[in-house]
Amino acid sequence: MQHARREAIREILKGTFDLERIAQKIRYRRTTPRDLASLRRTLELLPALRQLSLPEVACFFERIGEFDGLLLDLQRTLVEDPPAQIGDGGAIRPQTDSELAECVALRSDTRTRLSQLEERERELTGIKGLKIKYASPFGYAIEVAKSYAAAVPEHYVRKQTLVSGERYITAELKELEVAISNAKARQERLEAELFAALVDRAAGEVERLHDAADAIAHIDVLAALAQCAAERAYVRPTFVDESTIAVEDGRHPVMEAILQTGFVPNDLSLRESQHRFILLTGPNMGGKSTFLRQAGLLTIMAQIGSFVPAKRMELGVVDRVFTRIGAGDDLASGQSTFYMEMAEAANILRRSTARSLLLIDEVGRGTGTLDGLAIAQAICEFLLSLEEQAPLVLFATHFHELCALAEHWTLVANYHITAVENTARGGAPVFSHRVQPGSSSRSFGIEVARMAGLPDAIIERAQEIADALSGEADVEARVPLKKKMLKRPPPERQLSLLN
Ligand code: ATP
Repeated sequence: MQHARREAIREILKGTFDLERIAQKIRYRRTTPRDLASLRRTLELLPALRQLSLPEVACFFERIGEFDGLLLDLQRTLVEDPPAQIGDGGAIRPQTDSELAECVALRSDTRTRLSQLEERERELTGIKGLKIKYASPFGYAIEVAKSYAAAVPEHYVRKQTLVSGERYITAELKELEVAISNAKARQERLEAELFAALVDRAAGEVERLHDAADAIAHIDVLAALAQCAAERAYVRPTFVDESTIAVEDGRHPVMEAILQTGFVPNDLSLRESQHRFILLTGPNMGGKSTFLRQAGLLTIMAQIGSFVPAKRMELGVVDRVFTRIGAGDDLASGQSTFYMEMAEAANILRRSTARSLLLIDEVGRGTGTLDGLAIAQAICEFLLSLEEQAPLVLFATHFHELCALAEHWTLVANYHITAVENTARGGAPVFSHRVQPGSSSRSFGIEVARMAGLPDAIIERAQEIADALSGEADVEARVPLKKKMLKRPPPERQLSLLN
């Protein structure tokens, strides 16, 4: 509906410059003439932006007011296309200042007088190729080819000898040269003074310029979000008072944009009065992390004023999104991977409130299986024991034992992602990427390891050990250590695995 208005706003934004940066340069008097030209262009576009913007963003403009006075000064003082540096000359409109106008006129008048002098000398001496040239550092000179040496008048004073001829100066030419050089120096000084005054003028409004940069940035973000919403069929989320995140057919905004194969939408329902804690199990590569991140992104998008990639979304404003995702360490400050995992978990448990969203993607994996499972379960139990004060939690795990929590705590809902073995593809799993009620009992770790290129011999041995471990005998008997070394795969196989 607002397509035309949005396009117009985006078109205007394309013409604006980085006002924040320009304002900063003005504040520290590091401005070039081109910065001020960019400022002028941006200020020229502000009224149109203000006119086109929706009432919802009018508050940004109210704060910054008008820039008519500064804009007028910039338009009056600065030439249309100024040079990079003030020292290059020609940045200031001559009519801005009578003395500058006089200097500029003098310089252009002197140039005319130079060509008149050249013409006259050519006629007087009869030297056809006579030219007045400027050569640094010698200045202006009359250049005469060697073949005309005899025709050079006596009052010509030799200045420089060239391979092809000689350069001369005359009293009249010297006088003109001094006039030009004086006018140039005066023009440079005046331009520098006028430019500094213009920068001071802009510096007087620097705070408001920062506010304007802020307003433009807000409108830029909102216009970009609106563009995405229109192009990618996002919907307006509904806000409710209760602590709720309910999404129908939600999509991950980045993955749906880049996945060639099509993204599988999923539902999510966390409600204050019903389930506040989703325990998500499923195969490796099933899409658990994607689902958790998606929930976080949709929540943040909704709260910053964006539409969301879903069919429907209901949200009770959250105070924070806490995440325990991925592995990291900070060895220099004495933090191992597991230590950091625990430190993150501790921070979440200490600081989250009943209005927080917790995305816990594996906890307790960086230590022994028993310790890890025990810690994961204790964390779940702690959160659940908070009852109505419990935050909204998405907890992804490969500890399938935790699914039993749902039997004791009504706040918990088990969800899983399915995968089926495809015998035609040598048992490789096919992932549905669909999140459904219920729990899963398999992680398909060995199958995913095979897909990732782990050598067949290792996969086979891993399968043997897994089969034995899932039996009833004690561990020693079940998994005898294999003494024989497994053979390395041939080099070409290794290479293809690396790829
Ligand atoms: P692991 O347990 O191994 O960490 P995971 O269950 O967290 O795996 P993700 O990392 O979320 O799985 O997803 C693995 C891959 O599956 C993604 O890189 C993506 O290509 C694909 N995928 C995930 N979710 C979807 C979806 N909803 N639709 C389509 N593809 C998806």
